[in-house]
Amino acid sequence: MIVSGDRFLAELEALGQIGWVEGEGMNRPAFTPSYEEAREFVAGKMRDAGFSVRVDGVGNLFGRIEGSDSSLPVILAGSHLDAVPGGGKYDGPLGVMAALEAARSIKEKKLPLRHPLEVVGFTGEEGGEMGGTFGSRAFAGLIEEPLPGEKLAGAGLTAEGVRSSKTDPSRIACYFELHIEQGPYLERRNISIGIPTGIVGISRYAVSLNGEPNHAGTTPMKERKDAMREAAELLSEWFAWTDTRDDFVCNVGVFSLHPGAVAIVPGKAEFLLEIRSLKDSVMEEVASEFRSFLGKRKKVSVSMDRVIWKGAVDLDPLLQSSVEKACEEAGVSCVRMPSGASHDANPMARITRAGMIFVPSVNGISHSKEEYTAPQDLVQGADVLARSILEADRQLVKN
Ligand SMILES: [Zn+2]
Repeated sequence: MIVSGDRFLAELEALGQIGWVEGEGMNRPAFTPSYEEAREFVAGKMRDAGFSVRVDGVGNLFGRIEGSDSSLPVILAGSHLDAVPGGGKYDGPLGVMAALEAARSIKEKKLPLRHPLEVVGFTGEEGGEMGGTFGSRAFAGLIEEPLPGEKLAGAGLTAEGVRSSKTDPSRIACYFELHIEQGPYLERRNISIGIPTGIVGISRYAVSLNGEPNHAGTTPMKERKDAMREAAELLSEWFAWTDTRDDFVCNVGVFSLHPGAVAIVPGKAEFLLEIRSLKDSVMEEVASEFRSFLGKRKKVSVSMDRVIWKGAVDLDPLLQSSVEKACEEAGVSCVRMPSGASHDANPMARITRAGMIFVPSVNGISHSKEEYTAPQDLVQGADVLARSILEADRQLVKN
């Protein structure tokens, strides 16, 4: 094993105490004192290991070790340090602490490394005022102008800080991110490591069905223009259709009725339809299919507007094979699979080669205090990350 498992687990656990509320779970959103305490904890470990440490204009943390050829671009590895309220200890911090352990072990053991290696802890991945993957989008130069001055100030940031965080993509060789799977795929198959081939795109549509509010006691059933009933029938037909396909997933997680009173036939039903797929073309096709289901409703007028479109990204084939090779070397099972959740690797893939490594989530649970990954899987993930970095270090110089 390249990494020191016990040291890594002890540090990950110590980091997991910062912001932890007994009975509630993690409380460590970006731009809060508990977040800063966590970042300082990691920075301290980096300094102790002799890394050069810096924090950029939005609060992303970097710790660097040198390779043998300083003219080469940087291999970056990490994830995010913030957590959703009531979340767990592993979503994000695992990737940062594993990258730290990998870099430290490579340095201590003087393993051959040509590229400089930087460990990164991105900020604000979980969303909030500035939207998800904020730190990595700032780093990748993907935050659109004009910058939201007031929102930035609320988080203690400045427009200048955001602009100064943008990196020069030619400075980066590649980006690796180890993350918990957050789904049941690996655990159910009893496989140690997942190698994501891409990250799904996300599209969301605001859908509304407009009928007629009326007296719920006196209006004959057949004469009602009941927006709730129309929406229920529509969604029931829709979900029967979605079960026949496995190249996308969709969800209706927000639903509201107007005027919303117990004795009034609902005049209006509104909901958000979310569609995710590894292929943009599938998201388009599924949306147009939904539109035709919607068009069949006769008793109500309907509308459907796209409110969010985030395209799918492919992860880098060379890095996927580096991870596969690392698994072979370490003697652990692996499988290629899609990533159904978005990650910092998404913005990073737009400016450099990006690769991910998944470890099993027990019962597929995440964004919950019940989130758990077995210690041996955490250590194995960190070790595969270290080996993948070294493999990519060799391959990228050849290419
Ligand atoms: Zn995450």
